[in-house]
Amino acid sequence: MEPVIGITCGHEVASHERFYVNRSYIKSIEMAGGIPLIIPALEDKARLTYLVEQLDGLLLPGGYDIDPQLFGEEPIPELGLVDPIWDELEISVAQMALGRQIPILGICRGIQVLNVAAGGTLFQDISTQVKGRTIQHQQSAPRWYPSHEITIEPDSIVERMLGTARTRVNSFHHQAIKAVAPDFRVTAKSRDGVIEAIESKVLDFVVGVQWHPETMWEEYPVFRGIFREFVKSCRK
Ligand code: MN
Repeated sequence: MEPVIGITCGHEVASHERFYVNRSYIKSIEMAGGIPLIIPALEDKARLTYLVEQLDGLLLPGGYDIDPQLFGEEPIPELGLVDPIWDELEISVAQMALGRQIPILGICRGIQVLNVAAGGTLFQDISTQVKGRTIQHQQSAPRWYPSHEITIEPDSIVERMLGTARTRVNSFHHQAIKAVAPDFRVTAKSRDGVIEAIESKVLDFVVGVQWHPETMWEEYPVFRGIFREFVKSCRK
């Protein structure tokens, strides 16, 4: 049977409070041969643990900012929207998945959740906290459009998945990784030094990317490789 891949829900308090997952993540996992399972925040942690025990892999999707309290900082004025219910869900589920040593793919907010869950820190806002003049990481071009370049480390999972040492990616983030979590390494950067990918040095497939491959692979098939390699690792 195909591997079951958990996708953590986003949380929104609008006219109705809801949990949601963008369709592009569901389509990406299906395209790569996995079965997506949507994971909402639950009141009872034991039930959440039970859910995570059913998974062969975990996808952490994009979303709002992460509360800087979670890495020991006070909020700066440039911090964007944070949601404690969403943070609590994803940090818990990421730590459970790390503990179970199942494959994890973090996308955008997901790479940041992964890094914080594993003991790293973040820049709360790139333009005010990263030294020097940075490039634009909040593109207004369409979702699929590769707006900036990244260089990829040799012998990394990202290099294996994309088959190149240099490519262009889309970019929709104003936070970024500051201190990389212990046991992780940086595997891609943009030209201004902002971290665009990380991976675990000890676990088999625990990878984060700062861009959004799920909205790129229809136009640029090379990005299918990220989901295919991820789902392949979840089969083992
Ligand atoms: Mn970027």
